[in-house]
Amino acid sequence: EAVVHWFKRDLRVRDNTGLSLAAATAKEKGVGVIGVWILSPQDWEAHLVSPAKCDFEIRSVDVLRKELAELSIPLWIEVVEKRKDIPWRLTALAQKWGVKNVYCNLEYEPDELRREERLVRMMLEKGIAFEPQHDDCVVPPGSLKAGSGKQYAVYSPWFRGWIAHLHAHPHLLQERSMPEKNPDGFREKYASLFDSRVPDVPESKCLSPDDKQRLTSLWPAGENAALERLERFLKEKVGRYQATRNFPAENSTARVSVHHAAGTLAARTSVRLARDVNSTKKLDGGNDGIKGWISEVAWRDFYRHVLVNWPYVCMNKPFKYEYTNITWEYNPHHFTLWTTGRTGYPIVDAAMRCLASTAYMHNRLRMVTASFLAKHLLLDWRLGEQYFISHLIDGDFASNNGGWGFSSSTGVDPQPYFRVFNPWLQSAKFDAKGEFIRTWVEELKDVKGEDVHNPYEAGGKAAEIAERNGYPRPVVEHRMARERCLRRYKEGIGRG
Ligand code: FAD
Repeated sequence: EAVVHWFKRDLRVRDNTGLSLAAATAKEKGVGVIGVWILSPQDWEAHLVSPAKCDFEIRSVDVLRKELAELSIPLWIEVVEKRKDIPWRLTALAQKWGVKNVYCNLEYEPDELRREERLVRMMLEKGIAFEPQHDDCVVPPGSLKAGSGKQYAVYSPWFRGWIAHLHAHPHLLQERSMPEKNPDGFREKYASLFDSRVPDVPESKCLSPDDKQRLTSLWPAGENAALERLERFLKEKVGRYQATRNFPAENSTARVSVHHAAGTLAARTSVRLARDVNSTKKLDGGNDGIKGWISEVAWRDFYRHVLVNWPYVCMNKPFKYEYTNITWEYNPHHFTLWTTGRTGYPIVDAAMRCLASTAYMHNRLRMVTASFLAKHLLLDWRLGEQYFISHLIDGDFASNNGGWGFSSSTGVDPQPYFRVFNPWLQSAKFDAKGEFIRTWVEELKDVKGEDVHNPYEAGGKAAEIAERNGYPRPVVEHRMARERCLRRYKEGIGRG
């Protein structure tokens, strides 16, 4: 007999609510813990998970397997082609092992919630308790309500509520206990479970050997790598985060989103450790950088709470229904120029090429490129949302959907639609020296000074270099694009 923890988006041993409870139950019963991880290739396809993220997950599972083995906990790994078969397979495994308690951490998208609901019923029929836990958010969805009793649809008051809630419920930030070593004899009894190995990535999600090598060194997997990265950031950078966070060339953010997305790092751990380096030892007061960083991690919670309160955002619908009827351009050529970084707007192109190469993009540039797609090219924001999720290593439905909704003005608490980012100004402000552009747009690396932001407008030598190296001219003219955007949005909202 044993207790099972089913790992999903929580690929870590430390500070893991479900695993910690599984271990406590096992201890109470005097039995051991078995970890399970199930890969459904169909699930990866359906959710457009990027090859970079698939690879990162597989690498993280391998680290997890080794970490668990140190505790004599086996990680049983299986490939189940169809996602709908996961519940019966998990139930069958639990029965085979004589297990009476199965734990996991909740995922909040409707399909996942439905699957977990089915599991509760299926396992109950077999006399097994299936107990999904809140773990993914620092404050569980459903905990916060505005004064009127309604759900918050604006970030600032929600964030004040979030802070107050954490002050009133300090246990939410406490570290969940590590599982202890499985009892003597467990390893011998369940020896075959320790032979499980990570599977190959399905062909459709395979990276080229070059990409795999580059991404492996850029994004080390597993929870130790996550904690190391976080601790270095808290030691060296967080203090100046507020002042530097918007400048992509400065590498001044934590770059832990990939770990939050795979669950190799809990958002709770991030917030607690950031709080602990604050002189106040609190979430508020003290250092601006720390406060600012905590409020960014809180955005992740915010978008998850939105998803739980308004699940239709998972169904390709904008949060603001009056934005359903905007007439988009559907110009496949423009879309390709955007994805390949050939729009003639250097900051946009640099960002898109960086994404293609590193599977990551700085937050400021996510906003700039998303706004450019929706407002300058007037392409349906959902095309961009899908492209991002299928290329980002930190792809995460709630944050990505929230970010696209914000940037295209169709989402929750968005940028107002009449605020159209001027990419030339964004470029001059946030990449003043053009360092980021020169890193990624090879054709412009010899363009001097500020001319790099818009070489054809600058003329002279800059335009000559751009022309000679085949750098494209701007695909749309900024002023025209801005006016067209305002008109279309206004007409669309009028019809909505
Ligand atoms: P830091 O600045 O160090 O922030 C710390 C953590 O806070 C991040 O790791 C992340 O977990 C969280 N966070 C920060 N900003 C946001 C935000 N705006 N929304 C939600 N969480 C945030 N983030 C993803 O994790 N996955 C996505 O798929 C994703 N898609 C995005 C799409 C668009 C169009 C936009 C505008 C933003 C998107 N973001 C997404 C949010 C944000 O850009 C990234 O989380 C951030 O760039 C990650 O880098 P970092 O870890 O260095 O962040």
